[in-house]
Amino acid sequence: EALDRRLEDSRRQFGRQLQSLIDGYDRIDDDLFDDLETTLLTADVGVAATLRIMEALRAAVDNGVITQPNQVLPAVQAELFEIIEPCEQFLDVPAGRKPFVILMVGVNGAGKTTTIGKLAQRFKQDGLQVMLAAGDTFRAAAVEQLKSWGERNDVPVVAQSTGADSAAVIFDALQSAQAKGVDVLIADTAGRLHTQSNLMEELRKIHRVLGRLDDTAPHEVMLVVDAGNGQNALNQAKEFNAAVPVSGITVTKLDGTARGGVLFAIAESLGVPIRFIGVGESARDLRPFDAGTFINAILP
Ligand code: GDP
Repeated sequence: EALDRRLEDSRRQFGRQLQSLIDGYDRIDDDLFDDLETTLLTADVGVAATLRIMEALRAAVDNGVITQPNQVLPAVQAELFEIIEPCEQFLDVPAGRKPFVILMVGVNGAGKTTTIGKLAQRFKQDGLQVMLAAGDTFRAAAVEQLKSWGERNDVPVVAQSTGADSAAVIFDALQSAQAKGVDVLIADTAGRLHTQSNLMEELRKIHRVLGRLDDTAPHEVMLVVDAGNGQNALNQAKEFNAAVPVSGITVTKLDGTARGGVLFAIAESLGVPIRFIGVGESARDLRPFDAGTFINAILP
């Protein structure tokens, strides 16, 4: 299905809203700018990115580059592209780095387990051998979910009982993956929020322990955030990044939210590659992030 259908809620909240506000003006004035600023903030573009866009527009008006309202939307679009295009960096699994270790982090409910399944399927389709590590030892359900997914899809899952040391599970998994010549190891981690300092400490420990077996691992620390969390997704990203160096982000559930603008906030404030976007429940609904396609999908 085309991306713009999946992102329809964001398109309505963002693109059509921008279009109709601009249509309401026959000349450029402060009211238009105020309206525009409010619309961007309401669409979760975030303060930093919104200020950047407003500054660029004001400068273009001052320089006489923009003289009419119908030039505003293309200018906003160009600015949005400038903000987000640097984050279009596809996740490549380099040949000869075996195993390529992906550490998945994010709060419970963000879509981490689902994304692991989708990613594993994608890698398998690419002919790569995949292994999973059930590092969320805190929730029995998470371990079960990963195990049953692995069984159905013929992907080995390294797991221990609930309450086991997460770093130990992931360490074992990496040892096993190295021994078996697996191409990609994807490690799940806990995402409980209420014991946050422990969680962050645990992530640091996992990071350290992986480095003992392979001083280049993990090769990707992928943060999974739910787009529906809006600006809160940004705060989560900052907190996780303080514990482990986040090298890529997957933004999930963009199909069920009007808050697609949050990608611009993430891009402007964090500058971390946006690897994938989740726009539905099936494996093909995890799509590599493409800036141009995304902008076209949420603008009118
Ligand atoms: P975890 O706690 O982070 O491991 O979250 P889960 O992977 O269990 O996902 C939580 C819920 O979100 C599940 O019902 C998933 O099917 C759903 N989900 C995950 N990603 C997407 C997405 O891109 N779109 C939609 N519509 N649902 C998603």
